[in-house]
Amino acid sequence: MKLLEHQAKAQFRSEGIECPMGRVARTPGEAESAARELGEVVVKAQVPIGGRGKAGGVKVARSPEEARAAASQILQMEIRGYRVPAVLLEELLDIGQELYLGVTLDRDRRRLAVLLSFAGGMEIEDVAERTPEKIAKLWPDPFSGPLPFEIRQLTLNALASAQGEQVLERSRLLGLMVPLVRRLYQLCQRLDATLCEINPLVITRSGQLIAGDGKVEVDQNAEYRHQDLVRELGGDAEAASSGDDQLEVEARRRGLTYVHLGGDIGVIGNGAGLVMSTLDLVKQQGGSPANFLDIGGGAKAEVVRQALEMVLLDPEVKGIFVNIFGGITRGDEVAKGLIQARDELQIKLPLVVRMTGTREEEGRRLLEEAGITPAVSAPEAARRVVEMVAGAGR
Ligand code: GDP
Ligand code: MN
Repeated sequence: MKLLEHQAKAQFRSEGIECPMGRVARTPGEAESAARELGEVVVKAQVPIGGRGKAGGVKVARSPEEARAAASQILQMEIRGYRVPAVLLEELLDIGQELYLGVTLDRDRRRLAVLLSFAGGMEIEDVAERTPEKIAKLWPDPFSGPLPFEIRQLTLNALASAQGEQVLERSRLLGLMVPLVRRLYQLCQRLDATLCEINPLVITRSGQLIAGDGKVEVDQNAEYRHQDLVRELGGDAEAASSGDDQLEVEARRRGLTYVHLGGDIGVIGNGAGLVMSTLDLVKQQGGSPANFLDIGGGAKAEVVRQALEMVLLDPEVKGIFVNIFGGITRGDEVAKGLIQARDELQIKLPLVVRMTGTREEEGRRLLEEAGITPAVSAPEAARRVVEMVAGAGR
């Protein structure tokens, strides 16, 4: 889950990280009255991606009327496929320097990494690619968090590659960075976030350190621990999750265990192990699985139908392989679900069903009567579906 900037900043504030004063507006009128309170403002599109500045989603407004016009423009924009549900108006900062500060999950090192760079403002991915030496890194002990001396060293390392004149005197910068980095790190841990990022981290001409932007990504597997945030996102949740794979979002909504893989053969099975080995079989036959979909044990006809419907939502799918090992799951139930779904959804794609176990004969008989050829051997079924899909493509 990606928080919108204003939500990320609310989290920053709760951790004691300084942010500009701001108001959220959903209409040009609201933006105008917010600007009356705030004075000169920057008007910012609230979409869960970076690069808004370049796309025209960040505009400076010197008067309430300008703020109204800017908001009206931005609220009608679509930024890289995202509707803009709201704008954030913030008091204009007197920017002296723009830094980058981020805490992100480093999966290789199995801990959070702290990244600091004086090449802030632009996309950190670009900096990392072109001038990686400009990013200083630290991998704190997760139990102690970043220690003051480590943060000072990190800052000095980043300073070593900084260009131009420094707004802040070195000792004052070091003094400000220590609590800031600790707070951002703690926030990342508290939110189970895979990313907490401030870009730009602004040093104002008056020598303050303020979060000019805010990005927070909460680990999807920990969302259940942050239901308050999920609720708070409310109507914007759709926008926030649109960075996720849309098929997986839909599967989650339907309560299905589904992973989108990108190939063209839909795979449905009961039990994670069986589905994984089915993916292997498809691969071994030279095919490319479109997805992983586990309907679990004891699936009834309705679940089977749901699963087929889900697989068909993927426009890449050119054939479907259903692999059922009947234990608690009954072959006849699965067969009924498949037949019903095929008829209702008018499936014309190649559909290969391998079925063994409980009530397999009844299941296979039902399938055969309905014109779906069942298979007993899984490798054989895999070979057949790969062949049919390759043939259909010609
Ligand atoms: P992003 O492009 O989506 O990352 O959006 P940002 O919030 O980082 O804004 C992009 C750029 O707009 C920043 O790098 C700043 O240069 C500028 N900007 C953002 N907020 C302010 C502000 O309050 N005052 C001024 N002068 N510029 C700002
Ligand atoms: Mn930014």
